[in-house]
Amino acid sequence: MLAQNAGAVHIIEVFKKGRKQYAKDIKKGWVDMKQFQFSYTDGETFRNELTRFKSEHSAVDFSRMIFHIYSEVLEEKVIHCVCDTLKEVFPDTPYVGCSTSGNIIDCKLSSKITVVCTVFEYESTKVKVFQYDYINDNTDSITAEIVEETKKNPWVKAIEMFFTIPEGSTTRFCDGMKDVRQDIQIFGGVSCSNDITSDACLVFSKGSECSDKSIIVLFYGGEDLYVNSINITGWKPLGRKFHVTKSNGSVLQELDGIPAYDVYHKYLNIQNDENFFYNTLEFPLFYEHNDTTILRTPVASNADGSLNMTSDIDTGSVVRISYGDPSTIVESIKKDSQKMNQFQPDVLHIFSCAARRTFWTDKEPTYEIYPFKGISPSCGFFSHGEFLRTKGKLNQHNVTLVIAAMREGEKKADANTAPIVTEEKLLSQIPLVSRLATFISATSLELEEINSKLEHANEKLKNAAIIDGLTGIYNRKEIQSQIEKACSNIDNKKFSVVMLDIDNFKQVNDTYGHQEGDTVIIALADILNDKNMLKTNKYSAGRWGGEEFMMLLQDTDVTAASFIAELIRKCFENTSFPKVRPQTVSIGVTQVREEDTMDTLCTRVDTALYKAKKGGKNRVVII
Ligand code: GH3
Ligand code: MG
Ligand code: MG
Repeated sequence: MLAQNAGAVHIIEVFKKGRKQYAKDIKKGWVDMKQFQFSYTDGETFRNELTRFKSEHSAVDFSRMIFHIYSEVLEEKVIHCVCDTLKEVFPDTPYVGCSTSGNIIDCKLSSKITVVCTVFEYESTKVKVFQYDYINDNTDSITAEIVEETKKNPWVKAIEMFFTIPEGSTTRFCDGMKDVRQDIQIFGGVSCSNDITSDACLVFSKGSECSDKSIIVLFYGGEDLYVNSINITGWKPLGRKFHVTKSNGSVLQELDGIPAYDVYHKYLNIQNDENFFYNTLEFPLFYEHNDTTILRTPVASNADGSLNMTSDIDTGSVVRISYGDPSTIVESIKKDSQKMNQFQPDVLHIFSCAARRTFWTDKEPTYEIYPFKGISPSCGFFSHGEFLRTKGKLNQHNVTLVIAAMREGEKKADANTAPIVTEEKLLSQIPLVSRLATFISATSLELEEINSKLEHANEKLKNAAIIDGLTGIYNRKEIQSQIEKACSNIDNKKFSVVMLDIDNFKQVNDTYGHQEGDTVIIALADILNDKNMLKTNKYSAGRWGGEEFMMLLQDTDVTAASFIAELIRKCFENTSFPKVRPQTVSIGVTQVREEDTMDTLCTRVDTALYKAKKGGKNRVVII
């Protein structure tokens, strides 16, 4: 039967006009995209309703329609009956369908099998349906095919997808979709069943069988079609952050090096029992990925302490446990519904997570969607995962509400886009738990801030112990200990040391003063620190004392070391100072020998430096 609020009733709601006005609009060609909804009860009644609908809308081009079938019933026999009736009455009309955890019509739960007919009014609007089967992990070839199809169909503006519960990584699928033209919006949901702990699901489309391993892809487009898609979470991060230190696809093994289950147990006292899924449902992990917020919920805990998540989560992600804050959700939905109203959609497609339905049960499962009710007809379902392309990148979400709006034709100047009045059943009091959660979040953020300041101070202290205050390169203690370490490493004894001493430095101090002398010391240190100029980073340099420096060059023989020494010498000679005239440096170079100790090595490089001084300064001497 036709749903009570189906057909023309919607149109009156959309344009906020009466039936007479609607009839006039039809004549003027002002009526856009329409949606009609049917509840399936049995084949016979459904056939009668479809036939009646067909005769009442004989002016409609039936190839310019599409049926969406949302079914909480997974029995293929029943699905076939729905599809066969559609094919019989509307042989030219495509259809797509999926199993769900609840169907949504006009922002309310609807019947167990809901059939929605969308009629496109503009000649230019096009819809195309594809069904891809998962065979032997062919994710990459599926995404490649979709990308190819979008190239062949340049009119495409939006892609809607119905997934079965993926076995592998949806991140790979999402990454594969990056080559879909940037301006094409992508949204969709993962089919599921009424039991959200179960993997049972199916999708189907005209010409393809029911499948539990497929993706249905719809292309929408044409020059008069406008699309706008958004997502809303409203979940707020709670408490400290954790690093994902080990994960494999959707199996989250470790957080901060400990089994992921232990985190849920320690911080939320969640036990590993039959209620695990329902207890963690309200506390998904919250993290940033592709510049957007992603939520992942644990669905089961394994014997080794790892958790099966609703979808994959990368090692290296920084996550926090989060909680659903009703007032945050309601607030963000209020804002987004007003923005959506401005878009003047003709239809809304809603993909809401089954977990959200469970979250709101003590209110009403569709409580949070009400604010979108008066905007336009809507249809959708409670899903096992929600897809949305944001900032050019497709993501699979969980615990998220994705809403896609479509409109045919330009916005109507005379349309009433004043904020819609929603049922103000909003929470008048912020519950205690929400206040406590805010307290915990604020406290842990403060602690994190203090911690980061401490880490910073610690880092500075550590540096102060090894860094020379004047030049910012290593101090004598540090460079000496590095050379000592290199000397004691008998397995890899191929390194060289370079000792440098500024020539006639006393004169600089005497002529220009100690402060100007310092600028000369700093200038040489800067050269020693310039890894780009020296074209190597396999070395360290330190201030040996006064205007003397020492370098340790790893994996460097004496020839390469003297080449670097020569580079330094020339560069220093060519350095000009604001007040001091150009200066020079003498350099000794030697390579470590088998029998060397720290002492013998330093004595030899010191001798080389001494020879450079003796030989007339401003030169490199190798021993
Ligand atoms: P030579 O060419 O033989 O090396 O002659 P020199 O004048 O450089 O002789 P020497 O190396 O003995 O002189 C080092 C001078 O460096 C002595 C000291 O006053 C000065 N000096 C040591 N530390 C600093 C410092 O931190 N800043 C300044 N401006 N001078 C320093
Ligand atoms: Mg000296
Ligand atoms: Mg000197």
